Amino acid sequence: MQSNDVAAKPGMPLHWKMGIGFAVGVVGGLIANLYFADAGWLAALTTYVTDPVGQLFLRLLFMLVIPLVFSALILGVVEIGNPQSLGRIGTKTLLWIMVVTTIAVVIGLVAVNVFQPGTGLPDEVRDSLMAQGAERGGEIAQQGREAPSGIQLLLNIVPRNPIAAAAGGDLIAVMFFALMFGIAATVIRSEGTRSFVSAVQGVYDICLKLIGWVIKLAPYAVAALLFTITARLGVDVLVQLARFVGTVVAALGVHFFIVFPLLLWIFGRMSPLAFFRGAQPAMLTAFSTSSSSATLPTTLKVAEENLGVPRPVARFVCTLGATANMNGTALFEGVTVLFLAQFYGVDLSMGQQVMILGLCVMGGIGAAGVPGGSLPVIAMILAMFGIPPEGIGLILGVDRFLDMCRTVVNVTGDMAGAVVIGRSEAAELPLAATSPPD
Ligand code: ASP
Repeated sequence: MQSNDVAAKPGMPLHWKMGIGFAVGVVGGLIANLYFADAGWLAALTTYVTDPVGQLFLRLLFMLVIPLVFSALILGVVEIGNPQSLGRIGTKTLLWIMVVTTIAVVIGLVAVNVFQPGTGLPDEVRDSLMAQGAERGGEIAQQGREAPSGIQLLLNIVPRNPIAAAAGGDLIAVMFFALMFGIAATVIRSEGTRSFVSAVQGVYDICLKLIGWVIKLAPYAVAALLFTITARLGVDVLVQLARFVGTVVAALGVHFFIVFPLLLWIFGRMSPLAFFRGAQPAMLTAFSTSSSSATLPTTLKVAEENLGVPRPVARFVCTLGATANMNGTALFEGVTVLFLAQFYGVDLSMGQQVMILGLCVMGGIGAAGVPGGSLPVIAMILAMFGIPPEGIGLILGVDRFLDMCRTVVNVTGDMAGAVVIGRSEAAELPLAATSPPD
């Protein structure tokens, strides 16, 4: 499950373009808000130009979510469950992914509940936002608003009709169906299932290509969405955004500097300092590409040569991890969903937050390892809980920087997992040529 689709392109790097889009949108929106708030042309501009441009981008993201999550999850399960060679390593990898990703999401959810970065918006601004959100979020937001709670939420994980679940944007039901499909495909292993799996691989590759194209529109969408929102809300919104960035970075920092070292120390018997020193090239590549898939070749090399992970373990854990093990992404999804719920004044019960935790853990498996790969998943989770999906527009302007940071956490999680699993397999498998420098 890899793609080299995110290789460097000629011209100005995307993150610069997004930065410029951000600046143009914010500065233009603030000027409009300060000096032309009542002008008729401004209302026309936001209603007929900037808002539709932003909506178009969001629709393109929505369009990809079902095929992407469906194909990524099936491939993830099939790769984990390969009984011939890596059944045991597969089980350990699955355990690592589920446990460490859950820890990451919990850190994110605790941080957002403690810091409350989305609260404090004046009531009248929030009410008008909710009204606009209900109008523009259309059917998807409405459908999410009717989300049930309690035992029904658990029952709804199992779709009565998977096609209806996909058509209705019921992400968790689609994920469940994909997981079951993947497990069955792994168990059967016939000629038919093999061709099915390669067709699913084709769907996945096409989705990655499409995401690459959609992301190219991001700088314009950032400018349009930020112009719309700052022209309507003024400076208040920027303060909220800064608090959001601070919360994400702090939570990622806890996972990176505390959780990984502890896991490496306790289960990998490796000095965290030696790990960070050896893993550095992959971390830097992740930071500059914002893509776990694009970093994969470096991740593999580093895991084998600098961290001494046995080759079969490195291949399996890191390759699978590039799409399925995304601690930073899952954490980010949780923080973003709760932040936007606070921002729009949508109350979430404890049960709903637990549900979001589960969705984010699966979202970390289902998101693509490309820049902005988590955005479709977030848009869908927002809609499920009645939070206006155009909230994505609010975070888009700062997303590239956060994407760089969370991709480092994603890739580091893959390498840490490979070290821990590699050490536990040491008796069974030959070590790579170079020993870890601890
Ligand atoms: N850019 C991330 C990665 O490739 C995915 C995301 O969170 O958007 O790991």
